[in-house]
Amino acid sequence: MIRYSLKIKGVVQGVGFRPYVFKLAKSLSLRGYVRNTSEGVYAEIEGEDAACDEFINELQCHPPALAQIKTIHVEKQPLRGDRDFSIIASSYGERNTLISPDIGICAACAAEIADKSNRRYRYAFTNCTDCGPRFTIICDIPYDRKNTTMSEFIQCPDCRREFEDPFDRRFHAQPNACPVCGPKLFFYKRGERQHGDPLALFDECIRESGIIAVKGLGGYHLACDGQNEGAVTRLRKNKVRYDKPFAVMMRDIDTVKRFCYVDAEEEATLKCARKPIVLLRKKESCKIAEDIAPLNNSLGVMLPYTPLHCLIMENNDVLVMTSANISDRPMIYDDNEAMNCLFAMADAVLTHNRKIFRRMDDSVCMVVSGKVRLIRRARGYAPEPVNLKGNSWIILALGAQQKNTFCLAKGENAFLSGHIGDLDDFDTEKFYEGEIESYMRLFDAKPEVIARDMHPDYVSTRYAERFKNKLPIYEIQHHHAHFASVLAEHDLNEKAIGLIFDGTGYGEDGTLWGGEALWGDIAETERIGHMLYAPLLGGEAAIREPWRMALAMMRISCGEDEALDFFARYGDKASLLLLASERGINSPLTSGAGRLFDAVAALAGIRTHTTYEGQAAIDLEQAIDDSAEGSYGFDITWEENMMIFDWRQLIRDIVRDIRKGCSSGRIAAKFHRAVVQLLVDVAVLAKKQYGSSKVALSGGVFQNAYLLHHGIARLQKSGFAVYANEQVPANDGGIAYGQAAAASWLMKR
Ligand code: ZN
Ligand code: ZN
Ligand code: FE
Repeated sequence: MIRYSLKIKGVVQGVGFRPYVFKLAKSLSLRGYVRNTSEGVYAEIEGEDAACDEFINELQCHPPALAQIKTIHVEKQPLRGDRDFSIIASSYGERNTLISPDIGICAACAAEIADKSNRRYRYAFTNCTDCGPRFTIICDIPYDRKNTTMSEFIQCPDCRREFEDPFDRRFHAQPNACPVCGPKLFFYKRGERQHGDPLALFDECIRESGIIAVKGLGGYHLACDGQNEGAVTRLRKNKVRYDKPFAVMMRDIDTVKRFCYVDAEEEATLKCARKPIVLLRKKESCKIAEDIAPLNNSLGVMLPYTPLHCLIMENNDVLVMTSANISDRPMIYDDNEAMNCLFAMADAVLTHNRKIFRRMDDSVCMVVSGKVRLIRRARGYAPEPVNLKGNSWIILALGAQQKNTFCLAKGENAFLSGHIGDLDDFDTEKFYEGEIESYMRLFDAKPEVIARDMHPDYVSTRYAERFKNKLPIYEIQHHHAHFASVLAEHDLNEKAIGLIFDGTGYGEDGTLWGGEALWGDIAETERIGHMLYAPLLGGEAAIREPWRMALAMMRISCGEDEALDFFARYGDKASLLLLASERGINSPLTSGAGRLFDAVAALAGIRTHTTYEGQAAIDLEQAIDDSAEGSYGFDITWEENMMIFDWRQLIRDIVRDIRKGCSSGRIAAKFHRAVVQLLVDVAVLAKKQYGSSKVALSGGVFQNAYLLHHGIARLQKSGFAVYANEQVPANDGGIAYGQAAAASWLMKR
């Protein structure tokens, strides 16, 4: 006979861990107990030596599906002679546990709602310990029903029995509910509650080309038939969204395969419990409304992730499922706001009376070079921590301005917030401040160190002011943060070469950086190369009007006369912009790689004006005709110890190709190949100088799947070990994590 204590850390609460331990112990005739603690799960087992060994082995090798065990600490204890194995209720005031993200509906629950004989047949709020809402309904910890928005629903005797039976799938499933005692659906039309089955009314409205707001896990979506051109076009108009693609929900994986190419990794990602939106390539035969993703070969697809989704997809192959907001404002999640605002965009609202405590957008990812890469990390992922190896402080990293997230790092757990949005918007700023407060409370983390961007005018920089003279505040250069995000994610503990291709970020010298070669580690880097500078004609407006970038770069490459001649259709505006730039008026210099993509898209006639961030570069990537031959090239010149990526000959070659009538598809292909070659050439030169063959790729430009895929392949072929973002976005959504990592390392020094 022997007795052990086990301390288990990781994501082990709210994932059916204690019932699992209970059943396992019982099956091996072990005695003892299990309970949640402030740090995870604690168990003591007593019994035959072999049975105890098997218990520990089984726990390590086959933990419950949703659990993520980080460590198991086993210690021998004196025998106590318990008579049975029991689950001990959680003690309160626990503030060190990890909170589970929201989890997509499991197969067992999906089967129940489809089973006519089951008491949860067609019940939209079915869940169990393996699935259901979590983070979006948790108001406080510990994770108990009374601390969730389910507190107002009292379980009926049947649900209560399930909840209390350790052998039941719903043992301690906090949001447990059924049609007798749980939340209910409601259908509103023109502000009026409608009688009848809300799901039947939903289908009827979809068939009549209607737009319906649907309450989901982290907010409302706007839904319409994805194969109905008129409905989709009207949705665009109502949402005041011009070209930015809509995400869609498809009924099941077979339906997805009818519309899109899906490889094994993409299929696994679509089906996994996190249920993100996955960017897929449309099939040529794909018959969905053109206006869902105008002129775009790819499509953001997700599978149903709540029982309600399963039910509304029963009679629909494809529904547009775009977050309910006007333009880029935060998604609507509050029921009162929903009733006040949604009828301006939707004909009807399918809602329910389970409150959403926390707004949470859908996550978006893509699979490139065999790895899942998050573009937006939110529902299904937040607030699961990203590892920050070696950190021993509580660090609040405030992120950037666009696509903001913040990161609260507590020891080795970096809690990266869900997608917050663009902080230019006042409501988004309020959301940001509220979420920071909420994270500090939930994770009991009072910051000891602050990290922020160098940009003097960011909202996040202003937020950092409140800690001035109280806490150390580290200003982390934007592209250094991108670089550090990759190194920290891969726990790369040495110096490496960074190729950070981005839109813009505030540089150490006050210019706008963004096409950077860096050398350094997580704590510090030096700039060893950059794109040749060009002026942003008219400032920020040049980002929305790529033709201005083309004009500026063409003047530098071909001279003023040829540039003005090429852009003659813009008349005086072009010459006035150039004149202003000569006089240094409103024409800040940028080395942003994104701006070069913009310029090429405009020169090739692909896009001269944009309606959303990154649009010109996306269109340029979409235009690539990979069957066309050839490549342009960059000249790499030296200014003292600095490499300059000179694009002047490249621009001249593009202009010559355009004059020869070369197709835009070929120009796009030749340009992308040149950028891939540039990555390799710069890495080779840096290796010669610094001796490292480790390269980190990051920055928003690496959301370009062609560039990332071919960049990784070519660099590897040239003998480099290549690191790129996976868990945190390569865009500014990953900045906060990089800032936290850099600040942690700087504290260590
Ligand atoms: Zn379930
Ligand atoms: Zn019930
Ligand atoms: Fe950036």
